Amino acid sequence: MISGISVSKGIVFGKALLFKNKKIIINKNHIFKNKINKEIKKFIIGRNKTIKQLKNIKNIKNKNKNKKDILDSHIMILEDYEFEKEIINLIKSKLITADYATNKIIKKQIKIIKKIENEYLKERINDIIDIGKRLIKNILNLKVNSLSSIKNKVIIVSKELTPSETAQLNLKNVLGFITEFGGITSHTSIMARALEIPAIVNTYDITNKIKNNDFLILDAINNNIYINPNLNIINLVKKKKKKYEEKIKNLQKIKNLPAITIDGYKVSIFSNICDIKDIKSIKKYGSEGIGLYRTEFLFMNRCFLPNIIEQYKSYKYVSKKMNNKLVNIRIMDIGGDKNLSYLNIPKEENPFLGWRAIRLSMDLKKILYTQLKAILLSSNNKNIRIMFPMITSIEEIKYLKYELKNIIKKLIIKKKRINKNIKMGIMIEIPSVALIIKDIIKEVDFLSIGTNDLTQYTLAVDRGNKLVSHLYNSLSPSILKLIKKIINEAHKQNKYVSMCGEFASDEKVTLLLLGIGLDEFSMNSSYIPYIKNIIRKNKFKDAVKIANLTLKKITNKEIIKCIT
Ligand code: PEP
Ligand code: MG
Repeated sequence: MISGISVSKGIVFGKALLFKNKKIIINKNHIFKNKINKEIKKFIIGRNKTIKQLKNIKNIKNKNKNKKDILDSHIMILEDYEFEKEIINLIKSKLITADYATNKIIKKQIKIIKKIENEYLKERINDIIDIGKRLIKNILNLKVNSLSSIKNKVIIVSKELTPSETAQLNLKNVLGFITEFGGITSHTSIMARALEIPAIVNTYDITNKIKNNDFLILDAINNNIYINPNLNIINLVKKKKKKYEEKIKNLQKIKNLPAITIDGYKVSIFSNICDIKDIKSIKKYGSEGIGLYRTEFLFMNRCFLPNIIEQYKSYKYVSKKMNNKLVNIRIMDIGGDKNLSYLNIPKEENPFLGWRAIRLSMDLKKILYTQLKAILLSSNNKNIRIMFPMITSIEEIKYLKYELKNIIKKLIIKKKRINKNIKMGIMIEIPSVALIIKDIIKEVDFLSIGTNDLTQYTLAVDRGNKLVSHLYNSLSPSILKLIKKIINEAHKQNKYVSMCGEFASDEKVTLLLLGIGLDEFSMNSSYIPYIKNIIRKNKFKDAVKIANLTLKKITNKEIIKCIT
């Protein structure tokens, strides 16, 4: 039995699929003339293999008309005589390898399409990149592992999964995943919760212990992974699964009831979403609004920026679907562990301390303006608010307010229907703003505490680094004191405080946060019933007692004792 960090609830049984995404290394050396035919043959074999693979995938996805059409268009590109001729000519004329020639032609096609002002064609760039990668891997005889086309029901086992790889998982067949790296607040774990698939991360060297097709139990409730377990264990875990499912069923009963304590103290419970698809779970789990819409996922798994229309459509959709409920749209938070290949973000020594979130948007102004305009254009429902991530100073807030005001003015001149009084808030995730919170509050309409980053920046512990994961602790007295300070100052100025970091969905600290005075808990929707249940079963006056006692403690051991 192996443990790690359980980051997304659930228990699943299934076969292991080891996912190794080998990097493609293109051979750019010149070839001798007598090797031309060998390279051409390599291309033809790789191309035919790719067509065969795509036809197989097409047969699996035969119910999905859209995917079938896309795969047909991929096959058409590969079968195109001109495409073949161009690659073969390049091998012959430049004396280069089949993989290098194919890469060049694919890049050339992408360049041509990028110049054409046609949205449909631009959408196809992703397809071409996808085929290109598959084709080159087949030419090089590398194993093709595509997360979006997994055929059988499996549990993915991998050293690491990036947030964008996680977003590609074929959810029909991926039962759950296990990785060696990652922590509760790394974005891959956040994605797992959004997709509602069980996951355990930080498992040391599990890829050396599990082989393909091993039978696994992934018990992300009790944080256990069993490899080829015996019948006794299988039956035991089946019972645990049944019990867990019954608990969920019971919790569903309170989904439409308010988050109110026995003695009548009410708080709000909101959702964090990564994608418009997550809206489905808002109703399912009885959420009161969206406390955090991580818009950066709209910018991922593609090769060019989403334009204003595409962004507008997503924001408008969310605004409409939520009726009158509030939606905090967070400005793109790229950088750190979330990269966009098409932005050419330079490799940094310390990406989490570097060109990330609002810093990137403030430097790449066109991206910021487009996003702000798209949000404003979708704002006439009046339920949308703008939230800026990773703010470090008053100057940044003033600058962003100035920019926002200018964009609003321009849109009004153009007679656009917008909410000219749109509310603007920030995330408190850096100690520099938490320490001057009294002055910060005067500048903004609302605040949301991002404990995932506040913890990493206060304690100087990378939130995704397994070597220091034991030091990553949101229950540290310093973090609790910062949270208390933020809430106290906000309440003095009649502002309410939300928390959208993962701490807000940690059942161990619900009463503590309630007692400190947190007004709004925002989390992945599927966690709402658990937190609501705790709030509804307790008294506010007891929560205050726990908070007062806990805040006096200065060691972690003492703090844990107070909350258990
Ligand atoms: C946070 O930092 O707590 C947060 C909610 O933002 P993210 O996890 O996207 O960095
Ligand atoms: Mg953050």
